[in-house]
Amino acid sequence: MNQPGETTHFGFRDVALEEKQTLVNDVFHSVAQRYDLMNDLMSGGMHRLWKSAMINALNPPRDDSPFALLDVAGGTGDISFRAAKASGHGFHATVCDINSDMLEVGRQRAAQRHLDHQVDFVEGNAETLPFADRSYDAYTIAFGIRNVPRIDLALKEAYRVLRPGSRFLCLEFSHVDVPGLDKIYDLFSFNVIPQIGRVVTGDAESYQYLVESIRKFPKPNDFAEMIRAAGFARVSYQSLSGGIVALHSGWRL
Ligand code: SAM
Repeated sequence: MNQPGETTHFGFRDVALEEKQTLVNDVFHSVAQRYDLMNDLMSGGMHRLWKSAMINALNPPRDDSPFALLDVAGGTGDISFRAAKASGHGFHATVCDINSDMLEVGRQRAAQRHLDHQVDFVEGNAETLPFADRSYDAYTIAFGIRNVPRIDLALKEAYRVLRPGSRFLCLEFSHVDVPGLDKIYDLFSFNVIPQIGRVVTGDAESYQYLVESIRKFPKPNDFAEMIRAAGFARVSYQSLSGGIVALHSGWRL
């Protein structure tokens, strides 16, 4: 349980737990309009492959059976749109995010894709989800959980809103485990990404935070332990692209 006055990381800085969310919100308000372009530029398009891996694992029904996905920290809707494309007519996604600017970009993208009847956007905090117990068939969170100040609370909330027999999936930057690649990755992350951020969004600092927050995120085995501690069973993870990203999975049984 977190105590008042407890600190956490905002990138490499120690900040009060309460302050972290405000700083994170500033980052995503600042980058919302250019967020999707930046994803392609920073990852060289690789985020598309990582997201496809998540959708393959999700494996939503292709027939008309009902399937309710909750996509937390869903931002501009990428995961939900991909899941909708891979699904039948019974699919419905709720994108929940704390940031109104990211959600607004998402709503516009849903309308452009004619997916607004299958994808809803709801403002909410991953730590206190505004949804009923046992109301979803799957929970996804992609590149979101490291931004949440109290990860343990977010995991407990994920467990609460899932129906028994349904799946938690988390895609997150992880820790490079290939010798040689780690050096190149560090050079690229700390030198190139903030500069791309400066040119494209006028905001190098936000991207400096994103790079630093990746380094502070728990190692995959430790994060798997946190998922177990929230009550999930059959917890596993898969490293992608030499450990740049990990896809974590757990089941509410
Ligand atoms: N999932 C999307 C994707 O993969 O493109 C967006 C990921 S973006 C890197 C991280 C998102 O986490 C932002 O939209 C941010 O507003 C959201 N976020 C940060 N803290 C949150 C919280 N406590 N609850 C819900 N969303 C949060």
